[in-house]
Amino acid sequence: MKTLKLKPGKEKSLQRRHPWVFDGAVAKGGGDPGETVRIESAQGQFLAWGAVSPTSKIRARVWSFDEQQRIDSSFIRANLSVSISARGLFDIKSNGVRLVHGESDGLPGLVVDRYGDTLVAQFLSCGTERWKQVIADALLELTGLTRLYERSDASVRELEGLPKVSGWLRGGGDTAVVLQEHSWQLALDVAEGHKTGFYLDQRDNRQAFFEAARHGQWQQVLNCFCYTGGFTVAALAGMRARSTHSGMGNGAGHVTSIDSSGPALAKGRANVALNGFDASQTTWLDADVNASLRQFDREGRKFDAIVLDPPKLAPTAAHAERAARAYKDLNRWGFKLLNPGGMLFTYSCSGGIGVELFQKIVASAALEAGVDAFITHRLGGAPDHPVGLPFPEGEYLKGLVVVARPRA
Ligand code: SAH
Repeated sequence: MKTLKLKPGKEKSLQRRHPWVFDGAVAKGGGDPGETVRIESAQGQFLAWGAVSPTSKIRARVWSFDEQQRIDSSFIRANLSVSISARGLFDIKSNGVRLVHGESDGLPGLVVDRYGDTLVAQFLSCGTERWKQVIADALLELTGLTRLYERSDASVRELEGLPKVSGWLRGGGDTAVVLQEHSWQLALDVAEGHKTGFYLDQRDNRQAFFEAARHGQWQQVLNCFCYTGGFTVAALAGMRARSTHSGMGNGAGHVTSIDSSGPALAKGRANVALNGFDASQTTWLDADVNASLRQFDREGRKFDAIVLDPPKLAPTAAHAERAARAYKDLNRWGFKLLNPGGMLFTYSCSGGIGVELFQKIVASAALEAGVDAFITHRLGGAPDHPVGLPFPEGEYLKGLVVVARPRA
């Protein structure tokens, strides 16, 4: 068994059960890509069993902190089983579920999403790459499914020295699937699109948006960074439920959705049709959100609800300062375009921006826009995207619902 010896004093984070060993902490040793090594302190004390990533700044990721644990196929299978069972603790209102969420599930670098009868996996570390076939077999056995599509085409694979790979790993067939989420359907293609094809982490936040649309009197809604229109469909569903419910026939609000990805917008339009909404209730803009918001301001347009769900602007804390400015700018425009009583649903999926900092950024944005507002909801990732307690990096998605104070 090979070892990886840390420099003196570098054992603390492993003792707190954080699963990463950075290259700067390593004194000597290592192994082949993905090989399991014994990680020990400068004094030779056992700390963990981990998988080596020879070219990455994250030189090793921990499988187990238990010296007696053998890292073999039954260990991998048992971890997958725990992870999958934990999803049964909640009432997940969708047939799209994240079954494995990497480090937070004790399987560093592994992401597995289930979309109906289709599994989609990302193997993002040398360790998971090495155990790929074992993982694939165990996933089929544990879920009883037969189809597993690999989407190991994320850019982080390059940091691991791994090529981008995608395609069927088990089974095959059509890569298009239709998700049943809350009271709507969303079509996606597991071979295309971002991540494994969809943003499951926003599931319950889409429901929160639906509820607000049902209760409010929204006429004009703006969905920025809409991707395939998840929040657009949720808003339309909420407005439809409102008109059915109240009998007031005021369900026909309008949703403007912006994204810079043409293919995502095409899917958004298809999702509107799939749910039986009238295309005339929607406008789709293939544009840069920042430019569009400025233009709306010049035109004097206002909205009753705005979603801001930008891509990751600060992957790590090192990018936080620049990203903070970008978030503040974006939110300032959001506030400027809100009607009194309007609601801003604002998100950050940056691991480098914590909850407190995000709230400060949003508060400064409101101040600069001259808007008085209050927070009604603090949102995060859905429960199938857990955050390991020793792994705060797992808490990447945060959101605030902010209401511009209504006029007296
Ligand atoms: N809200 C979506 C997920 C958004 S992901 C959902 O719930 O499914 C971020 C999106 O921002 C991506 O679709 C990406 O294409 C888009 N994007 C990135 N930069 C952009 C920009 N400057 N202007 C418009 N869209 C952008």
